[in-house]
Amino acid sequence: MPALPIVAIIGRPNVGKSTLFNRLVGKRLALVDDRPGVTRDRREGEGVLLGLPFRLFDTAGFEDEDAQTLPGRMRAQTEAAVAQADVALFMIDGRAGVTSLDETVAQWLRGSDTPIVLIVNKAEGRAADAGVYEGFALGFGEPVPLSAEHGEGMADLFDALLPHIDRVDVEEEPDDGDRPDAPLKLAIVGRPNAGKSTLVNRMLGEERMITGPEAGITRDSISIDWEWPDPQGGTRKVRLIDTAGLRKKAKVEDKLEKLSAADTFHAVDFAEVVVLLLDATRGLEAQDLRIADRVLEEGRALVIALNKWDVAEGQSALFNGVKAALGDGLSQVKDVPLLAVSAATGKGLDQLLAAAFETREAWSKRVTTGQLNRWFETAVEKNPPPAPGGKRIKLRFITQAKTRPPGFVLFGTRVDQLPASYQRYLVNGIRRELGFAGVPLRLTLRASRNPFGKNE
Ligand code: GDP
Ligand code: GDP
Repeated sequence: MPALPIVAIIGRPNVGKSTLFNRLVGKRLALVDDRPGVTRDRREGEGVLLGLPFRLFDTAGFEDEDAQTLPGRMRAQTEAAVAQADVALFMIDGRAGVTSLDETVAQWLRGSDTPIVLIVNKAEGRAADAGVYEGFALGFGEPVPLSAEHGEGMADLFDALLPHIDRVDVEEEPDDGDRPDAPLKLAIVGRPNAGKSTLVNRMLGEERMITGPEAGITRDSISIDWEWPDPQGGTRKVRLIDTAGLRKKAKVEDKLEKLSAADTFHAVDFAEVVVLLLDATRGLEAQDLRIADRVLEEGRALVIALNKWDVAEGQSALFNGVKAALGDGLSQVKDVPLLAVSAATGKGLDQLLAAAFETREAWSKRVTTGQLNRWFETAVEKNPPPAPGGKRIKLRFITQAKTRPPGFVLFGTRVDQLPASYQRYLVNGIRRELGFAGVPLRLTLRASRNPFGKNE
């Protein structure tokens, strides 16, 4: 378990720091120093916001200080807390507006390396609108209005915190794959004779620059880096992973071209996007669907290419037939990109690579919690969840917990009774309406008290 990220709440007395602390930490509170006679400088506990865990510091304890000595002591504590934190929530009271003490605190924070999120508290109703505008002037970007007491604005707080403390993806490779310019890890799979080797050779043809060493051979996989000259401009890095053609090219071993299923899925493990190559002269076969389903189950982005298009007969009927058969045959994702290509002539290969990059983008994409819940409210309103046994399932809130592949967490009550068909309704809606076309999505259901923290 990696250490939890640290969040500090800072600000002058009475803005509502303890109230927010209590809301986020609840019963998990661990007082670090609560001995009588000792000034309680700081409370510390394990906080959780919509499924996102962190350690929370609250710089409390200077309420009783007189106005003369307050700033000095406050400064020492504030700076100590901020220095230890991954992100600091600088809270002001939206009803009081920005006070001179707030401005003093802002001064202290300016030199700090820790990211600061400005919180405008007591913003229930619209009572803090003016305070929000004033808050802008403090120079910490867009303030997050919320009501610690009433639990409003928690989704926006989540959005503001997430980029600084998101360690939900820790089980993923600690590489730089999230960067759009990182090499696209691409695997090409398909039945024997679909044309995989021909495709790889075409991609790596003489004009192409192979940027890697000979062929990068690691213990577990063979890969080769090259650059695709994108007709839309520039070149884009591609890392081809462990396919039949690659083995030949790399002269690693004189292995039969017929890759075993285990080999295929070894490549899939290392890939971001998998191209499933079909033989247009044979159409879509049951085995192809099985491979496609496996790829999606593994959470990889999938692009399907109908190869040997140069010799395909009845092209438009064939294309539409395969498209429809994929829609019927794939249980999880209905709109996987389908392209017609010819590895022999090179036709359609640029489109194939463009589709692969585009799919990776959707696969790596994160929507904000605000955006997601605006969509979610409408979706649930249009089609409310059923009420098994007369008891309504309450769906409260959804958040994207991870990317690559995108994973969503849905909070509500009695969610264990939510039918699979309703989950599909939500997942398909996310895919269609929030820009995740063709990507495998995961939905986790989490029974919760109201994630806004209010009890029913
Ligand atoms: P701290 O000194 O910054 O820790 O502030 P507290 O959490 O002790 O809160 C100071 C006062 O503000 C208390 O009376 C709270 O009940 C009140 N308060 C906290 N949050 C809110 C809020 O969101 N709205 C309103 N109206 N009052 C709040
Ligand atoms: P693999 O087993 O999937 O690696 O398939 P190969 O690349 O070895 O190709 C199998 C056969 O299909 C070979 O005879 C290729 O020449 C042929 N082939 C591959 N791609 C095409 C294509 O786009 N058009 C045509 N007409 N033949 C192709």
